[in-house]
Amino acid sequence: MGKISISDVEPVEASPAAVQSPPLVPADYPRSRLPVAPALSLASFLRMSGPPAPSILDAGEVRFVTSGRVAIALALKQMGIGPGDTVLVPSYHCASMIEPVIWAGATPLFYRIRPDTTVDLDDIVVKAASVRNVKALMATNYYGFHQPLVALRAFCDERGIQLLEDCAHSFLGSHAGRPLGSWGDYAIASSMKFFPVYEGGCLVSARHRLDGVALQSAGAGFEAKVMLNSVENGFAYGRLPLLRALMTLPMAVKNALWGVIKARRHGAAPALAPGSSDGGFGFDPAWLTKRSSLFSRSMLRLVSRRRMGELRRRNYRHLYDALSALPGCRPLFATLPDGVYPWVFPLLCDEPQALFRQLKSAGVPVIRFGEYLWPGVDATVCENSVDLSRRVLQFPCHQELRDDEIKWMIGQVRSAVKGEEGDLR
Ligand SMILES: *Cc1c(COP(=O)(O)O)cnc(C)c1O
Repeated sequence: MGKISISDVEPVEASPAAVQSPPLVPADYPRSRLPVAPALSLASFLRMSGPPAPSILDAGEVRFVTSGRVAIALALKQMGIGPGDTVLVPSYHCASMIEPVIWAGATPLFYRIRPDTTVDLDDIVVKAASVRNVKALMATNYYGFHQPLVALRAFCDERGIQLLEDCAHSFLGSHAGRPLGSWGDYAIASSMKFFPVYEGGCLVSARHRLDGVALQSAGAGFEAKVMLNSVENGFAYGRLPLLRALMTLPMAVKNALWGVIKARRHGAAPALAPGSSDGGFGFDPAWLTKRSSLFSRSMLRLVSRRRMGELRRRNYRHLYDALSALPGCRPLFATLPDGVYPWVFPLLCDEPQALFRQLKSAGVPVIRFGEYLWPGVDATVCENSVDLSRRVLQFPCHQELRDDEIKWMIGQVRSAVKGEEGDLR
């Protein structure tokens, strides 16, 4: 897939793209032994008993786009945000939260968060008063754990500021009897983080009509590629064995055709799909008018949210119980409240670098949301964000992990921590 950086599309002064793009995983790290995000399997469609899991799709009107970052850009557009406006954004973030603000021509103003990732309510009061043109506040329900949404809503209402609720980590969840995503003027989600899909994002509003958001199909090539990639990812992790056997030939044909297309374009892979959540692909405004694929939209309907919610909570608890007493590590969140359906299990580590390298070398799927902060965001802006950015390693707890895979992952983390402890002695 062609790498599209924001500097290709929008002239920004001192483009942050070069600094922001995380380096690709060094070649000496093996491929992850387990799927870092949900891999398609027949089990994805199983139903489960138990309480229903509220979701952002219950929060209001929805538009299905191709990524969370595109949904952020569309939300800013709907809010009428443009040059000269300021958007309050969290100091703890990933580039795809900030790039759309830059694209809109607005200025991001970074506010502080507390050690537990909640918005520093005193700091947003100060920041909102420090400039005249604050039009919106972006707040992220990190890792699925909600922000003080009642207080944030009141803060925004008092000042005539619009609230953008970032539910990229909280596709499922509720707070005070309402689904997450219903507190913001607009809310966004990232489908790839929760469903076995290759692209997808949601723009949602509980408060405004979305009639002005017009979307078109991204074309048959896109539809086909999205479906095949999702299926192929399932195959790669040993899911869908029967389908794999049936599809060996069509897959070979598809790969051969793809090779021909690429060769015709002198080696430049056509950008048939948007940047994935893996990061490093930047923000491409060409996708602002594109509807999510039929495949992804179908998955959002067909995959059981109840099962997803149940299993995510169960897997999270499993990781919590097994990893919470390790030396030099502690879970970022002490409890798993009702209504929280985690994206991942975040572990706060005293020696994250060595542990990260060791785990990656063993093929453990470690995620580092927030590893790269926007240029200029340092300890003087927010010490807690810098600390979280450096120290929080995240492990998948998604619904498509098998028990033996979770057990293996736990074993790897334990022995890596113990080994490291031995080294330090
Ligand atoms: C992943 C992510 C986004 C962007 O979602 P994409 O689908 O990757 O574009 C936005 N906010 C947060 C907090 C994220 O983790």
